[in-house]
Amino acid sequence: MNKTYDYIVAGAGCAGMSLLMRMASDPFFTSKQILVVDADDKNLNDRTWCFWEKDADIFEPIVHHQWEELDFFSNHFSQVMDIAPYQYKMIRGIDFYAYVKNTIASLPNIEWKKASVKRLLGATEKQVSQTTSPNLTPAGIELNDGTAIYASYVFSSILFDPIPATSNDYHFLQHFTGWEIETVSPCFNPVKAVFMDFRVSQEHGTTFMYVLPTSTTKALVEYTLFTERLLPEEAYEKAIRDYIGSELKIQDYTIVHREKGVIPMTTHNFPRYQDNHIYIGIAGGEAKASSGYAFKSIQKRTAAIVKALKQGKSLAINKSFAEKKGHLYDAVLLHVLHYQKMAGDQVFADIFKGNKAADVLSFLDNESSLFTDLKIMSSVPTRIFLPAALQEMTKLGKH
Ligand SMILES: Cc1cc2nc3c(=O)[nH]c(=O)nc-3n(C[C@H](O)[C@H](O)[C@H](O)COP(=O)(O)OP(=O)(O)OC[C@H]3O[C@@H](n4cnc5c(N)ncnc54)[C@H](O)[C@@H]3O)c2cc1C
Repeated sequence: MNKTYDYIVAGAGCAGMSLLMRMASDPFFTSKQILVVDADDKNLNDRTWCFWEKDADIFEPIVHHQWEELDFFSNHFSQVMDIAPYQYKMIRGIDFYAYVKNTIASLPNIEWKKASVKRLLGATEKQVSQTTSPNLTPAGIELNDGTAIYASYVFSSILFDPIPATSNDYHFLQHFTGWEIETVSPCFNPVKAVFMDFRVSQEHGTTFMYVLPTSTTKALVEYTLFTERLLPEEAYEKAIRDYIGSELKIQDYTIVHREKGVIPMTTHNFPRYQDNHIYIGIAGGEAKASSGYAFKSIQKRTAAIVKALKQGKSLAINKSFAEKKGHLYDAVLLHVLHYQKMAGDQVFADIFKGNKAADVLSFLDNESSLFTDLKIMSSVPTRIFLPAALQEMTKLGKH
């Protein structure tokens, strides 16, 4: 294949498709030749995204359900949280994929290729291609069949290698199994969701349930852990079954959909770019290390990329001050959990007890003011968190 592109989007999951949708919605990109490569057809409902935001963004038309009130439960503290000015929103994977695929299907400048990417092509290969590709461009991909394709920029969300297990970093995992259940009689209140319910066994580490009702008879119930090791398969299923029976007191239901996932919660410093390869999504370090949430940061990053492209600015955009600050706070929490200085359910209970829900949500999004940060930090024990913070700050200089 000798054709070269302006942009290659390698991996069309959340990050790749968010970038594509932003490009497809902006006339600036009509003249750009864009190739999308994914190994998958993206036609399965393989995940459900939840996130909070104040204003509508480009995926508002496919928001499946939203809530303005969230429950927080723990053995230390429980409350109903009014999260205004935020709304907690749910988007189903299948709706997201279909929406983006339908949008780009009618655009002649965007080409979809189902293929597996073997690796990204760097500077050395670039020299080799000079003989075969007269319109030399600075970045490329090699497909599994050996085909090399070049573009001005490659946006990759493919994690080619496992995240390096360096001893300087924490490597927690957010792992979970979810069942969407349908009950015979009305059991749920669809205007309120359970954000975190820590009243489950904490024997494996930080563990909670969440319940996202989309009608009086339908809800997604997920069993979630923030720990360094996965559990045996049957442990997740048993925990959900027990919770539905004993906590939600529901006996008569059918499971209409299942999902499971493992998200890295790590302080590993993911590079954001190398030459004209721009790493996005989890591969670009966009999963929040203290929560596993990635959808919102993916939206912010893809919006920033589109803005920079339109302004002709460099895409060598490093982390902002707010992101670096957030990285430090995440490291402190993971430090406390890793060394078991305080249990996660108690940490989250202290934070939600001492602060307005909207402040905590902005903190978790790296959008809070320094004043709010200090208030949130003062709600957890200084004797535990201050030494952890000092140790993590010394590590920062070494990164
Ligand atoms: C079940 C689940 C639920 C989640 N829920 C939430 C949530 O509620 N809120 C939130 O903020 N975050 C959530 N996350 C975390 C995060 O938002 C998602 O993992 C998100 O999909 C990450 O986006 P991504 O683009 O980095 O990766 P992906 O969406 O996984 O996209 C990567 C793409 O690359 C393709 N690919 C991989 N290897 C190759 C290859 N060699 N060649 C070609 N293509 C390849 C894959 O097919 C895939 O389409 C969830 C994750 C999971 C797994």
